[in-house]
Amino acid sequence: MSKRLSLSEYQEGVLAGNRVVLGQAITLIESTLDSDVQLASDLVQSLLSKTGNSLRIGITGVPGVGKSTFIETFGKLLLDQGKKVAVLAVDPSSQMTKGSILGDKTRMEKLSTDKRAFIRPSPAGLTLGGVTAKTREAMLLCEAAGFDVILVETVGVGQSETAVKGMVDFFLLLMLAGAGDELQGIKKGIMEMADGVLINKADGDNLAEAKKAKSNYQNALDLFPLSKNGWSTPVLAGSSITGEGLPEVWKTILEYEKKMKLNGFWDQNRANQRIKWLDEHVDFILGKAFHDHPTVQKMLSSEKEKVRSGELNPLTFARELTRVFLSNLKFEKP
Ligand code: GDP
Repeated sequence: MSKRLSLSEYQEGVLAGNRVVLGQAITLIESTLDSDVQLASDLVQSLLSKTGNSLRIGITGVPGVGKSTFIETFGKLLLDQGKKVAVLAVDPSSQMTKGSILGDKTRMEKLSTDKRAFIRPSPAGLTLGGVTAKTREAMLLCEAAGFDVILVETVGVGQSETAVKGMVDFFLLLMLAGAGDELQGIKKGIMEMADGVLINKADGDNLAEAKKAKSNYQNALDLFPLSKNGWSTPVLAGSSITGEGLPEVWKTILEYEKKMKLNGFWDQNRANQRIKWLDEHVDFILGKAFHDHPTVQKMLSSEKEKVRSGELNPLTFARELTRVFLSNLKFEKP
């Protein structure tokens, strides 16, 4: 086990913007050891009043679309504007492959060596729910440490987008020209979630194709009903290698922030996200208490094979497990 600091050492280090302590604090919140969980919870709670002041941006797109290249160039652009930038990743695949795709150390090299930036790969070995919960808390710690912009990167392959959408202010979808109609169909749900779309790799031989894709996607998006917040999602084209078009992405995000703050949607969105966080955390506490319960563990290990073979009905057994769990509950502080 790596070294643990005291609560006040974590607090002071994080508030002073010390990146090493911030990294250690995030390791603490990612830990599943009982002794760490309490300290982590105390730390997050004690820093809550110092959070909420950053711009939270989600970035998604299929592997290879250029997310990490985009973040490297876009992050640099933000640093040049005097912003402090933190990059967090939600990568549910890391639990299967052990090594995280997003955690590859060679990625975002320039950004990771800059003192005004902080990069944290996705925690490994957790379920999507676990990764989401930890990323949300890591985001709060980064805010307490004074980061102005938090970029949350996720692979565009499934439920992780919904999870990230539920914790950010602005959701950016990266796409490629010439991806084909069938892919556009799959992407419809994600496109509906996007507050902005960037056709990446709009450079060299690909430029004309990218411009065509930009207007096609814009036409497709304009057919969606206008979202409740009154924002119509713009499609931009740019290059994460040359940096062309990326200032427009930043301009779009600032315009979104201004409009949403004026019409009240900004605060409303964050309020809804707090309720989502509450719900998720209750589920997490209950789920953990259930699975940690010795009687439940015993019943599960002895009867699981019967469920697998079809001898025991999963619904009946789930009810039985829950009944036993509830009737054996000792009321303790979770
Ligand atoms: P990710 O998997 O979405 O993070 O994608 P990467 O950032 O790793 O990029 C995948 C490949 O596309 C790399 O070889 C990048 O150099 C390349 N790439 C990324 N952005 C651009 C771009 O704007 N233009 C060009 N020409 N190549 C790019």
